[in-house]
Order: sequence, then C-alpha cells, then structure tokens
Amino acid sequence: MATVTPEGLLDSPGVISRLFPTIEKGPLKKITGIVVHQTDGPTAQSAFNEYMHGGNGAHFLIDKSGVIYQSASLKKKTWHVGMLKAKCMETYSCSPAELKAGAGNLDKKHKIEMQKTRGERFPSNDDSIGIELVGRAILDPKFIKPGMTREDVNKLRGQKGIFETVTAAQNGALGRLIAELQTVLTIPQDQVYRHPRVSYKNQTEASTAQWLERK
Ligand SMILES: [Zn+2]
Repeated sequence: MATVTPEGLLDSPGVISRLFPTIEKGPLKKITGIVVHQTDGPTAQSAFNEYMHGGNGAHFLIDKSGVIYQSASLKKKTWHVGMLKAKCMETYSCSPAELKAGAGNLDKKHKIEMQKTRGERFPSNDDSIGIELVGRAILDPKFIKPGMTREDVNKLRGQKGIFETVTAAQNGALGRLIAELQTVLTIPQDQVYRHPRVSYKNQTEASTAQWLERK
C-alpha cells in the first residue's frame, strides 16, 4: 500500500517525484478533498516551466501518456482552487441573508464560504489536494477578431475555449491516483470534484476526466 513520507511525498510505485518548492504556499494541515484540473497547456514541461516561476500549481500532474508526477508536497498548500462557489446554491439551501450579502461579489461570497465548517462548503486551497491533467483549451477561430492582442485571445480562450478530451491513459492514472490518495488520506468518495464545480472556471475543464464517482 502507498504511504506518505514525513516530507509529504506519496510513496507509490506509479508516482515520479518532481517537486517545485516555488508553488508550495505554507503548511497544509488538514486534507478534506481533491480537486481535478486541466492545465490549459500542451505538455507536462510547459506546466513545469510555469511552476518554476511560482504562482499557481497543484500537487500532482498527469501527462497525456498517463505518467504521474508529484509536483508539491502533501504537507504544503498550493494555489489551485481560487474563489469558492457557494455550495448551498446546489441544494437551494442558502439563507436569504447570505444570498444578499454575497450578491454580485465573488470575493465576499468566498469569504462567507470560508467561515463555514468544512462539510458545509467545497474544499479550498487551505484543505485540498490538486491534480492537474495536461490538456489545452482550444478556441474556435470565429471568436478571434482583428486587432485582438495575444492577451485578449488567451483570456477569451480561458472563457470560451473547449478543453481537450482527457486521454484514456490519463483517466486510468487518475483513477488509480485518486483511489490511493483516498485510502492514504482518508478522503470520502464524494469529496472529489472537478474544478468548475467548486470555483468560477470554464465548464469544460476536466469535464471528460473519469474516476470512480459516487453521487
Ligand atoms: Zn483548474
């Protein structure tokens, strides 16, 4: 069975250690969930190049071939989630006062969520593991208008692009990795989420990721 070393490495035969201290953001004291992402980049190396400059990242990265890299310690936070959506919206159970307080203000909504107990909200950067799958968002050329800067196009790609289909090898590796992490870290089946469910992201991100899910 896989174990976690004192340094926070998942000691598993299928996982290659490729740590980037540049994306580690302080101690991760409690892990309650897993968030699955796609990188919006073409290769593992393109993600690693960004990790070297710091900023956003996640704990694992799965290449298109299914090779799994651990890119951050399980004892450290990474920035992979962003602002939380209100979980009560899914069950129509938000209080009127809460709806009013957070209306139109994502930052405020996030702060309201973070005051809730862990079971009442989605997992955040403070208490979750991130898994990135290498894959790009592809933008239909019809959205590109003359005079747009590269930055404009990148922003539009993030909003309206459609993420590549996750490969069979990636889904196989993802299923194995999630099962191992759930066992080692005692994470319930229903605490594994695709990124757009918990935060305001392109709805196609990780939409074709597959693992053993229980609704
Ligand atoms: Zn993401």
